[in-house]
Amino acid sequence: MDASKFAGALERALLCEMPHDLRASIEETLKEHRDNLYILKSAYERISKRLVLAVPREDIDWNPTVDADACIGCGACYDFCPHSVYELREEKATVAAPTECVVLCSNCVPLCPVSAISFPNKEDYVRYLRYA
Ligand code: SF4
Repeated sequence: MDASKFAGALERALLCEMPHDLRASIEETLKEHRDNLYILKSAYERISKRLVLAVPREDIDWNPTVDADACIGCGACYDFCPHSVYELREEKATVAAPTECVVLCSNCVPLCPVSAISFPNKEDYVRYLRYA
């Protein structure tokens, strides 16, 4: 994973409710260390421990949808996802483990060469997450 992935994850976190000091710390980290993989990764790991879901993950229907007609079975999403959300079946990507998908993450979308992956609107899901 490169620095931009962790920067993206920190920016997603900023969409959620969190204590003022935590928000200021994340903003500062992004401003001063945007290309520093070690610092961004460390900040992400630190805030991940403070994530609180408002309801059980199983009750949050945030996950990718694959347009099977468009999918060419290249496997880019399958290879990329560190949470094993995808499986390749009959040369098509399928969403095998939807609740393993990190709520608000959509990092696989730009990897698809045929734009077959879509997600719901992030704004509708921010209410499910907060940082303590
Ligand atoms: Fe299909 Fe796109 Fe995944 Fe490739 S990246 S397997 S085209 S959904």
